[in-house]
Amino acid sequence: MSKIGIVYSDRYLEHETGAHVENPGRVTAIRDELLAASWTDRLQWLAPRAASPQDIAMIHDRSYVEYIKKECEYTRGISYLNPDTAICPESYEVALLAAGGVMEGIDRLFAKEVDGFFALVRPPGHHAEADESHGFCLFNNIAIGARHAQENHNVGRVFILDWDIHHGNGTQHSFDKDPSVFFCSFHQSPHYPGTGGRTEMGIDDGFGYTLNLPMRPGSGNDDYMYLMEECVGPAIRRFEPELLLISAGFDGHRSDPLGGALLDDGGFAAIFEYARDAARCPVGIVLEGGYNYESLASSSAAVTGVFVNSEQPSYISLAKSPGRGSVDLAAFMRENHPCLKDSWNHK
Ligand SMILES: [Zn+2]
Repeated sequence: MSKIGIVYSDRYLEHETGAHVENPGRVTAIRDELLAASWTDRLQWLAPRAASPQDIAMIHDRSYVEYIKKECEYTRGISYLNPDTAICPESYEVALLAAGGVMEGIDRLFAKEVDGFFALVRPPGHHAEADESHGFCLFNNIAIGARHAQENHNVGRVFILDWDIHHGNGTQHSFDKDPSVFFCSFHQSPHYPGTGGRTEMGIDDGFGYTLNLPMRPGSGNDDYMYLMEECVGPAIRRFEPELLLISAGFDGHRSDPLGGALLDDGGFAAIFEYARDAARCPVGIVLEGGYNYESLASSSAAVTGVFVNSEQPSYISLAKSPGRGSVDLAAFMRENHPCLKDSWNHK
């Protein structure tokens, strides 16, 4: 049994978005489910701290940080930065707590106060670019966390696995020239935001350190686990990360209103378990999307349950019948992706 830190604060509820699908009820649904779990006594609830503007500037332009601050100061009630990203007067401070929540989880993890962490943060982060908000995201929480670990905890290689149904464009672009951060994304294609093609594999020194797995609509547990076994697992093992961070969106659940995938609670748990076992290093989970309260809560609890109970592998039987699209995608990656070739030497 492991002790898992859950980063949470009621202040995450103060980022008000009105009738938006990304709203405070998402994190309270997860919180309540974790409190009701049989293993809830294994959880250590951690209060986030606020990231400083300097912390945010590890990933974002300083002028962008200032812009978000000012927009939140000026808004009366709820307004929109773009057609899908809402803010209210408190959003800047809450976004600092979201990024700082991931930093706090990383600090507790490397202080060995917890064996892993799950940051129940909002607003989410993986669509946020260096100088632009996108897709409900203000600051890129997981990217800031990865840099924080490298700059303050002597971490060299970070592997980021993003299983949200949408491509983590902001995270990819934060690190696409950087071989110290491997970014791997499962996402539905075609779908928002339109990036994350299978040939996007990184740029310059970062070539080979981005692995995109665009999935056909209707992909389910077998497809994801097949690609874990064929592509993601080998990539993680060969990269030998010192920290595994997971952008955990649960909008790939079959019940989610925004995604067209067919994952279920067991599928998420299996993907997590397989990645953790391949990485053999400290692990942190960061909440991204997921818009059906019920499945968001039950999938989060299924993953956390695996995190807490480290014993029995459950993933073994899941990859029995992948669809044609997933088989072809794996074959393409084996043929073309540097990290899956025998000649790959990342060190
Ligand atoms: Zn998403």
